[in-house]
Amino acid sequence: MEAKILHGKVVAEAVKEGLRPRIEKCIKKGVYPGLVVVLVGEDPASQVYVRNKARACESLGIYSETRCLSVDTTQKELNELVDRLNADDRFHGILVQMPLPKHLDDIEIIERISPQKDVDGFHPMSVGRLVQGQNTLLPCTPAGVLEILAYYNIETNGKHVVVVGRSNIVGKPMLNLMYQKSKHANATVTICHTGTRNMEEHTLRADILIVATGVPEMIKAGMVKDGAVVIDVGVNRVDDDTRKKGYRLVGDVAYDEVKERCSAITPVPGGVGLMTIAMLMKNTVQAAEDHVNLKNNGKK
Ligand code: NDP
Repeated sequence: MEAKILHGKVVAEAVKEGLRPRIEKCIKKGVYPGLVVVLVGEDPASQVYVRNKARACESLGIYSETRCLSVDTTQKELNELVDRLNADDRFHGILVQMPLPKHLDDIEIIERISPQKDVDGFHPMSVGRLVQGQNTLLPCTPAGVLEILAYYNIETNGKHVVVVGRSNIVGKPMLNLMYQKSKHANATVTICHTGTRNMEEHTLRADILIVATGVPEMIKAGMVKDGAVVIDVGVNRVDDDTRKKGYRLVGDVAYDEVKERCSAITPVPGGVGLMTIAMLMKNTVQAAEDHVNLKNNGKK
């Protein structure tokens, strides 16, 4: 069976194009969508992510600023900065780049960001609203997975979705999205983790298998049902002397063997990874629209 390749780039571009008229509408109403990204320290990977976020904003005409703080920033200083950004009307989205240096409490920071500006969708208020099926800013990576499924018209209604991984940023929100009574969800969901016994018993029953473990190529062909849809969230560097950089990127799924078995699959790179920033842009625009509506006392 020749698996269909689900290209994140195509979907991400479609998402971003869909935002342009919404951004114009906000600007016409006097609100320029704005995102501020806070980076503490000099982690090279985080610096690349932050640069990519700024570039995406620029390409869409979203106002953005990056606040770079030294690695020895105190909790009090970071808290105070978040308070100022919460009160700053130029920014509809605030993103504090994770991971933070070890002496800083990431939970305290996530909870300090105003839920209205929580474009990462990690605030307990956002999580609670997601669980209750209320309108909210959704965590970017799982929302990106949903967007890929919708774009490629992959039926989720009544399907059995198995999520492998239960992190707060991918696995748990993925679970919470997939069981919602909504058009692009309404699935029966199983979630697996390191405590799961006989993993393949579960994965083999998946119509849609979503993997986010950080374990390179752990899902082998024998763990996948014939014709399943496989979404690989994993991004892992593995040593490769044949590459100039000395490494290559692989997912959590053994792509070459699994693609022979499934009906559709996301590649790594080129799959889910490209969706996260597009969904961040979408959340920023949504937060700006909510701000416009609030300004107009709910009149659209
Ligand atoms: P975490 O390390 O936070 O969580 C990994 C989860 O996988 C945990 O719940 C863990 O279980 C589970 N797990 C680990 N090993 C196994 C195993 N052998 N069997 C079953 N379950 C296992 O990772 P993240 O969720 O943050 O990230 C997962 C992957 O997704 C990574 O490769 C990461 O790089 C990628 N990622 C990609 C993004 C993007 O594309 N933009 C964004 C975020 C992540 P337990 O809870 O029991 O420890």
